[in-house]
Amino acid sequence: MTGFTNQLNALRGFYNTGATRSFDFRREQLQLLKASILKHEAALNAALFEDLHKSKEEVWITETGMVLSEIAATLKELKDWMEPKSVPTNLINFPGKSFLYPEPLGVVLIIAPWNYPFQLLFMPLIGAIAAGNCVVLKPSELAGATEKVMSTIIGETFNPRYILYAPGEGATVIPELMDAFRYDHVFFTGGTAVGRIIYQKAAAQLTPVTLELGGKSPCIVTSNASLKTAAKRIANVKFSNAGQLCISPDYLLVHTSVKDEFIGLLKETIVQFYGPNPITSYDFGRIVNHNHFSRLKKLMENEVLLHGGEHNEEELFIAPTIIDNPSLNAPVMREEIFGPLLPVIPYTTDEEARNMMQQHENPLAFYIFTNNKKEAAQWLQAVPFGGGCVNTTGMHYLNKHLPFGGRGNSGIGRYHGRYSFETFSHIKSVLRTTAWPDIPLAYPPLKGKLTTLKKII
Ligand code: NAD
Repeated sequence: MTGFTNQLNALRGFYNTGATRSFDFRREQLQLLKASILKHEAALNAALFEDLHKSKEEVWITETGMVLSEIAATLKELKDWMEPKSVPTNLINFPGKSFLYPEPLGVVLIIAPWNYPFQLLFMPLIGAIAAGNCVVLKPSELAGATEKVMSTIIGETFNPRYILYAPGEGATVIPELMDAFRYDHVFFTGGTAVGRIIYQKAAAQLTPVTLELGGKSPCIVTSNASLKTAAKRIANVKFSNAGQLCISPDYLLVHTSVKDEFIGLLKETIVQFYGPNPITSYDFGRIVNHNHFSRLKKLMENEVLLHGGEHNEEELFIAPTIIDNPSLNAPVMREEIFGPLLPVIPYTTDEEARNMMQQHENPLAFYIFTNNKKEAAQWLQAVPFGGGCVNTTGMHYLNKHLPFGGRGNSGIGRYHGRYSFETFSHIKSVLRTTAWPDIPLAYPPLKGKLTTLKKII
C-alpha cells in the first residue's frame, strides 16, 4: 500500500468498465486535449521560457506544434488503425480467415524528462489515449514552471480515474507508483542509469517497457560533404535548447582534409545564428540547473577550446563551444554531453572513425554528411544505431512515418504516429473458421497421410 494505491486502483476500475475502448471516447479525449493545449498555449510558452529560455518559435517547432500536429494526424487515422486487419491464411486452415485485432493494453505509466518537458510527456500520451488506455503521467520535477502548466492542462481536461497526473521527485514518486501496482506497460524517457532502475522495477511485475534513452550520438563529416550546409545543419541542432537534446550530434568526426575549413565555417555559423555575444541571443537556451551547469563546466576543463567557452553561472549560460580533438579517454568523450559543447575529432581512414565510434555501442542517432550516395550507404550499414540522417541532423525526429527509438544502450521500442498506437496496443491474432467443411486430414489417425501433409504444410 502506498499513497497512490487508491488512485491506481480507481484507474484499473475505470479501465475495467470498458469506457475507454470506443472510437468516440478516444476521439473526444484527443479533441479535449487539443482544446486545452490551445487554451494554455501562452502559459506553456512562458513556462518553457522560464525553465529553459526557449523562444515561442522554438516551443512551436519542438513542443506544442509537434504535439498538436500529432493529435491532428492521429484523429485523422485513428478509425483505420482501430479496425481489425485481414491477413492471408495458410492452406491447412482453409476455409478460415485470419485477422489482427488491436486492443488497449490497460493501465500504462508514462515517465518523462525535463529537456522537452511538454512534448516528451504528451507525445506518448496521445498514443496511449488513441489506443484506449488509462494513463499515469509522471513529469520531470526539474522543469518546474512547465510542470505546473501541464498539471493544469491534465487536471482541467481529464478525470483522474482516467488520466492521473503524478508529479514529484523521481526517486520518491516512482517507487510509490511502481512497487505496489502492476502496469500493463511502462513508457520511460530519460537517462540510461534511471532507465535501468525502471526496467528492473517493471521486470519484477513482468511488465513490458519502452525505454527511450540517451547516449553519445556521432556525426561524420566526410571529405565529400557540402561543408557550409553541414556547418549550418549541425550547429542548428547541436546548439538548439543549449545542446540539451537526446538526438543532438554529441561529437563530430571530421575528415582531416576538410577539418580546418569546416571549423572556420562552423565558427562563422555560430556567430550568424547567435550573434557575437550569445548570452544576449533570443534564440539561445539556458542550462536547466546548477548541477548540470557545473557538470558541463567541468567537461570543458583541460580541453582546447576553438570557440566559445564563456559561461555565467547566475544566468545558467554556457556559450556554444567547439572543443579541439579531445582524448577518447577524456570525460567529454566518455559521457553523454547533453549541453552546448561540441568536440571535433579528425579522422583519416573510415576504419579509424569506426573504431572511435565503437567506444559507445548503439547510439540513439547517427549522422553522416556526404554527397556520395555509395559512401552514405556504406556508413549506414556499418554503424548500428536507433535512427539518423544523411546530410542533416535531428530531422528524422519530426517525421511521424519514421518510428523513433534507440537500440540496446540507447533504448527499447519505438513510437510516433502509428507506431505510438501500436506501442500502446496489443495485437490479438485471430483465426476464424466455419463448422463446415470439416476436413479430416489433420485429425488422428494420421497414418498414411504424410505425403498429403507434406504438400500442404
Ligand atoms: P533522468 O533519467 O534523470 O529522469 C527521467 C525521469 O526519471 C524523470 O521523470 C525523473 O523524475 C525520474 N527519475 C530520476 N531519478 C530517478 C530515480 N532514482 N528513480 C526513479 N525515477 C527517477 O533523465 P533527465 O535528466 O530528465 O533527462 C536527460 C536524459 O534523458 C539524457 O540522457 C537524454 O539523452 C535522455 N533523453 C532521451 C530521449 C529519447 O527520446 N530517447 C529524450 C530526451 C532525453
